[in-house]
Amino acid sequence: MFLKMRTALQKLRHLRFDGRQQARRPTSSFAQEEASRYRPGQKIHGFTVGEVSAVPDLFLTAVTLTHDGTGARYLHAARDDSNNLFSVQFRTTPTDSTGVPHILEHTVLCGSERYPCRDPFFKMLNRSLSTFMNAFTASDFTMYPFSTQNGKDFQNLLSVYLNAVFFPCLREQDFRQEGWRLENENPSDPDTPLVFKGVVFNEMKGAFADNEQVFAQHVQNKLHPDHTYGVVSGGEPLAILDLSWEQLRRFHATHYHPTNARFFTYGDLPLEQHLEQIEQEALSKFGTIDPNTEVPPQPRWSSPREAHVTCSPDALAPDPARQNTLCVSYLLGGITDTFEAFTLSLLSSLMISGPNSPFYKALIEPKIGTDFCSAVGYNGRTKEASFSVGLQGMHEDDTERVKRIISETIDDVIAIGFEEERIEALLHSIEIDMKHQSTNFGLSLASYIASSWNHDGDPVALLHVNRNVLEFRRALKERPRLLQEKVKLYFKENTHRLTLSMSPEDTYMDKETRAETEKLQAKVQALCEADRKDIYERGLQLLAAQSETQDTSCLPALQVSDIEPTVPATAVQDGSAGGVPVQYCEQPTNGLVYFRAMCSLNSLPEDLLLHVPLFCQVVTRMGCGELDYRQQAQQMELRTGNMSVSCHAIADFADLDVYEQGVLLSSCCLEKNLPHMFRLWSDIFNSPRFDDEERLRVLVMMSAQELANGISHSGHHYAMTRAQRHLTPSGELQEAFGGMEQVKFMKRIAEGSDLNLVMRTLPRIKKHLLNPDSMRCAVNAAPQKTPDAAAQLESFMKDVAANKKALKPVKSNIRERPLDPHGPIRKLIAEPQFQPWEMKTFFQMPFPVNFISESSRTVPFCHEDTASLRVLARMMTAKFLHREIREKGGAYGGGAMHKGGLFSFYSYRDPNSAATLSAFREGVNWAKSGRFSQQDIDEAKLSVFSGVDSPVAPSDKGMRRFLSGVTHDMKQQHREGLFAVSHQSLVQAAERYLGAGQRTRGVAILGPENERFQKDPSWIVK
Ligand SMILES: [Zn+2]
Repeated sequence: MFLKMRTALQKLRHLRFDGRQQARRPTSSFAQEEASRYRPGQKIHGFTVGEVSAVPDLFLTAVTLTHDGTGARYLHAARDDSNNLFSVQFRTTPTDSTGVPHILEHTVLCGSERYPCRDPFFKMLNRSLSTFMNAFTASDFTMYPFSTQNGKDFQNLLSVYLNAVFFPCLREQDFRQEGWRLENENPSDPDTPLVFKGVVFNEMKGAFADNEQVFAQHVQNKLHPDHTYGVVSGGEPLAILDLSWEQLRRFHATHYHPTNARFFTYGDLPLEQHLEQIEQEALSKFGTIDPNTEVPPQPRWSSPREAHVTCSPDALAPDPARQNTLCVSYLLGGITDTFEAFTLSLLSSLMISGPNSPFYKALIEPKIGTDFCSAVGYNGRTKEASFSVGLQGMHEDDTERVKRIISETIDDVIAIGFEEERIEALLHSIEIDMKHQSTNFGLSLASYIASSWNHDGDPVALLHVNRNVLEFRRALKERPRLLQEKVKLYFKENTHRLTLSMSPEDTYMDKETRAETEKLQAKVQALCEADRKDIYERGLQLLAAQSETQDTSCLPALQVSDIEPTVPATAVQDGSAGGVPVQYCEQPTNGLVYFRAMCSLNSLPEDLLLHVPLFCQVVTRMGCGELDYRQQAQQMELRTGNMSVSCHAIADFADLDVYEQGVLLSSCCLEKNLPHMFRLWSDIFNSPRFDDEERLRVLVMMSAQELANGISHSGHHYAMTRAQRHLTPSGELQEAFGGMEQVKFMKRIAEGSDLNLVMRTLPRIKKHLLNPDSMRCAVNAAPQKTPDAAAQLESFMKDVAANKKALKPVKSNIRERPLDPHGPIRKLIAEPQFQPWEMKTFFQMPFPVNFISESSRTVPFCHEDTASLRVLARMMTAKFLHREIREKGGAYGGGAMHKGGLFSFYSYRDPNSAATLSAFREGVNWAKSGRFSQQDIDEAKLSVFSGVDSPVAPSDKGMRRFLSGVTHDMKQQHREGLFAVSHQSLVQAAERYLGAGQRTRGVAILGPENERFQKDPSWIVK
């Protein structure tokens, strides 16, 4: 995977633990105590201990070590968390855009000395209970992380990872499959034309179709033009075609050496065991080299520079006349100065985050553009950090105006500085982030320290976040103008400054295509008859290798018997507050309280449904009670860890024609701030402000822009939602809330000149939604804090009681379902007359690759066949679809999944369309024929269980029951169903649900112009 610039750049806060949720809080400190026994200078398994440092704020003890024989660096973070993580990273600093580090990242995972079977990495996904396995290529390092809760699994995966990176086979065939190759379009037919193929080649073509990513890439390349940041580490599609297998092998020899490696382990497993295995299986076989991978400092410019680039026009742009991007970027200091980097990242947040920041006021509110540009904010992912600010979605005529505003805003900041309350709010959000426990804490840490450590910064200093906060407070007290001085130095007086603009060009795609065609012609013309024959034969060889049944017995594996037969139930208590049902879940939440409320949509008139996502977006962001939107944002940041609202449409666990529709309110805060948080919610219930048209327009534009940008990287999600649309009543609703229909609806609203209708609609929606009569709540808090939370909730309900109205549901068929036999009632909608229907939709998009999905209606969660369908989806992905769609087809990804009573196939960044659709069909035939082994079934079960048993954070415990009514007994029954899945039940499930004509199917494709679908009357073309 090529680490996206955007994801890295959007990390505005210094430390952010987001993503999936965490296993368990440290209840004892056993792992930390063990680790604190180590002494500097102590020798363990070929390593020497450097520093041992307790980090009480993160409940961990850090130990640094150096390997004596190779100089490899090592950091261990001991913490009582069973979700153990390993990661090894290499400093990979390319000097061309052939994508050599990226293709190498893919290729080392294709087989190694000890594990010579093809693709051990993907095979291990099915032989392990890993909670995470992946590999990333960043601009200057390549990282291989995994995590698991099982000790034996950890050793197995460690062995495979070590062997992959240090002793890969790097066969030419792997290079051709993963990198690029010239091959007959149909490899078995020498008369079909020669074309370029390859997984990374297609992945990067897809990545380069994302204008936001392209822009962020240009900013980095042009701001640091003189060395590794001046090139594309992921690979420019056409430059990839210049890379040779020999160059790849050379890059491996010089970069994947222990001397150039940094190892990180995290969790409650003993450090010594890790060290021993790493020493024995890898490091003892190496000496020291001079890796010479350092990045030199970027020579500073004596005067600012300007540049211009073009991009593909965006068919979904909220306003087609406004598709320009402009950005000013500043090169800052080195990221290894931990405190300076911390200060600058805080400063960047103060400048651009939220409606109270100066750049938001100066650039976003005047609506010159739709949103900030993708590169906005602090970027600490390069050796020297940078800061960028600018707009996307703007008119070309506004270029000079935007430049002027940026420079004036910087002058204003130097003159005025920042309000103390804003600085407090930002430091508060850092405190919340440290206390909130995510399930992938180890991975967050690995990614947090990676860049600075990569350039020999001190990773332990980074972990002491609180020290940095205290030092920052002290520095600010001593020098109240500290931040203004930094702005003057780094922005106003900085001559290493780049102004980059980007505009759409109608012929952009044609030019790209032409350049590829010319490159192809040049390569093809240079071929003699013997070369062509050789290409044809090698194509056949690759195809044969890909189709061959693999002997994977060399790989370590867990067994189905290693899986726990039962899992403990999460205890919850049902209560009520002001007549509203409340679920309490007592958890070690580390000083935070989590509050959620599910509000029913049952009484909302149907013509308002499409407006609900917009309502969710704006209801916490337009002001409430006495507070205007700025004051509200300030209070939310100062007192809470976020307050948000999202749409909810979910099929019933027992009947697919029954579903629940609602919106979910979510928030959290420090225990002491609970009254403040409920005060904010009650102001939103009692007196939300929907009358500020200017504010609404800003939010509408940002929202439409975000949706339009999302399609190029989440296209499979949109294809799947569309394919499922007509299969169940809830599918219909999901498309309206988050599918292409919603994207087009928001585009229409953003294009309209008048928002009056929307402004009249929002209060109408509010009346139906924020109504205690059709609500249920959930609170997750520490046991000793729960009574107080209950009292606060009671008083909140009194404050909002005036909103309680018994409204008539719009649909007459209401099905009442208790949360569990004795729990509170959920009111679901039943549509027993619903008829699923076939629909094939093609969306023509300005991308060079396709996103495809085909979906069939099956059975709900509680049905006995669900377990087989779930295992079947996993097995088809691993044993059939991955090979056909990714390895042979060259798509970046593809597979099948079963969820919510729907069995869906999908492909991601796929050069093919018709071939992929037939691969889906062949997959079904393969499953029906029963040509799979018990080993295949067991592997698929293991893989399903690693999802079922993935850790759940204290904040999310009990949420499955609260949201969907799935009880512990149902989960246990499903678990037993999974264990019982057999060869026979899988074949039957394939026959019963996936055979042609068996079930109603939906198909959707997002992709480039395609005559085949345009001519075929069975397809709807959009
Ligand atoms: Zn990749």
